[in-house]
Amino acid sequence: MTEPSIFTRILNGEIPAEIIGETDRVFAVRDIAPQAPVHLLVIPKTAEYRDVTELASGDPELLADIVSFARELAAQHTDDGDFRLVFNTGANAGQTVFHVHAHVLAGGLTEKSVGA
Ligand code: AMP
Repeated sequence: MTEPSIFTRILNGEIPAEIIGETDRVFAVRDIAPQAPVHLLVIPKTAEYRDVTELASGDPELLADIVSFARELAAQHTDDGDFRLVFNTGANAGQTVFHVHAHVLAGGLTEKSVGA
């Protein structure tokens, strides 16, 4: 059996982190190493999907839930509701946690701050 992901450990209260919002299927935390003034992570409670491509084919409704929760969070955490949604997919693209998650980035974004 594989080790629980860092996000599963946060969800289970094994690693301290403030859960800033949740639904029955997803939850959100502030990224510990923010790359933008607003940098949140939206994470499915299930660790079943490693990345967004698996999620899109396995449970498109859950992917839609992530997008819709990202929109709600951006409305709460920004003045204008605008945000960038990033799914790093694969180690060579910067993915370090293989429990699918969306980066919600907003505020003072430049082209250089694209790497989440
Ligand atoms: P990725 O590199 O796309 O897999 O994203 C993983 C993200 O998780 C990185 O941006 C990390 O900064 C973030 N991260 C790692 N550990 C924690 C933690 N304990 N609390 C919040 N964010 C974390």
